[in-house]
Amino acid sequence: MSKTWIYKFGGASVKDSSAVKNLAEILRNRLRKNMIIVVSAMGKTTNALESILSEKLNGVDFSKNSAILRSFHLEICEALFPTGHSIFAQVENLFFQLENQLQKPLSQENYDEYYDQVVGFGELLSSKIVAEYLCSLDMIVLWQDAREVIETDSDFRFAKINWEKTRKSCQNTWKPILESFPILTQGFIGRDPKGRTTTLGREGSDFTAAILGTSLDAGSVTIWKDVPGVLNADPKIFSQTQKFDELGYREAAEMTYFGASVIHPKTIKPLANASIPLYVKSFMDPDSPGTKIHEKAPTHGIPTFVLKKDQILVSFKVTDFTFIEEKHIHEIYEQLRSLKLRVNMLQLSAISVSLVIDHQLFKLEQLLKKLKGDFEIRYNEGLELLTILHPKAEEIPVLQEGYEILLEQSTRNTYQVVRRKN
Ligand code: ASP
Ligand code: MG
Repeated sequence: MSKTWIYKFGGASVKDSSAVKNLAEILRNRLRKNMIIVVSAMGKTTNALESILSEKLNGVDFSKNSAILRSFHLEICEALFPTGHSIFAQVENLFFQLENQLQKPLSQENYDEYYDQVVGFGELLSSKIVAEYLCSLDMIVLWQDAREVIETDSDFRFAKINWEKTRKSCQNTWKPILESFPILTQGFIGRDPKGRTTTLGREGSDFTAAILGTSLDAGSVTIWKDVPGVLNADPKIFSQTQKFDELGYREAAEMTYFGASVIHPKTIKPLANASIPLYVKSFMDPDSPGTKIHEKAPTHGIPTFVLKKDQILVSFKVTDFTFIEEKHIHEIYEQLRSLKLRVNMLQLSAISVSLVIDHQLFKLEQLLKKLKGDFEIRYNEGLELLTILHPKAEEIPVLQEGYEILLEQSTRNTYQVVRRKN
């Protein structure tokens, strides 16, 4: 039996009609049966859907923004298809379904479930448009609904994969199709045991590609990006960057853990366990080799910079003249766990625990409410967390010019700082 190959195209690679044309160009000589193409929502669609949701939640009129989103998709279709093509009806239909969903009541209590039913439309729209466009160029792909195979629990917005079921579905329903045709499908979405749409966490389409790759024992997974490969720093933030030709799974996983946005953090582990190589390639320069992430990559000592924005530093001080004990840490972590908040950095002193978390809607308020009885709590918002792997000590002071440092930590191989622009 032949191997399966997975290609994933993110939002930037389908952000407008010329991007979709470029995607088709990339596939022209590469498309073949046994290939799965995973696409994300077009451009900033997911953010736009999130804004509509927050307007809805706050009782603000969202009709203007939903109209903008509809025109955005229809204009892309106008540039790609002749008048009267069936894609127009398909897009309209998806917007009707979205409007129907948005008529239903939304509150803080049902927010997560509701969110998944709404934001998944971004991927449904883009996958329909891209699949129809490829077919119109005689590059026949079969549009398949990822929710038929990506089986999850009901942890909305952060759904966890049921690996066993997903593997079975992939092998039973998609493998036979792939013997004759390539499949085009959505990233980011899955379905829970009750058939409701779930999502895998923001930017989760890379993870979808890894799930499909693992479940179908793929030969490789390729993520097409707007960068030449994995770099040692984000070129939008740091000027001197260097591309890695190869990277080990561990190194890549570490970078994503600290916040490198080039690949979703959950992508590496399943591929590493199955020894499936992951390629990160540029959709602007598809013939250049990009970065290969695999187990045999040589180790390197190149300083690597990862910046995480929108961070909150929270400090919990014991109020009863005792010292920080295990029970305090346990109590704080219990609450963090129940709110699904991950600690990005932690520091203990005799009387306080300081931790750095991502900014997430409502979460800080809920955390403060739960713990304010036992601790004196202070926090700072709008911070950034800079992590340097393989730091060069002499370069650190230069990097800090113009910043106020709130927390700093360093180990032999990692330097981290929480800071704010002056
Ligand atoms: N469209 C989703 C998001 O923007 C998933 C993805 O892009 O991977 O988060
Ligand atoms: Mg996206």
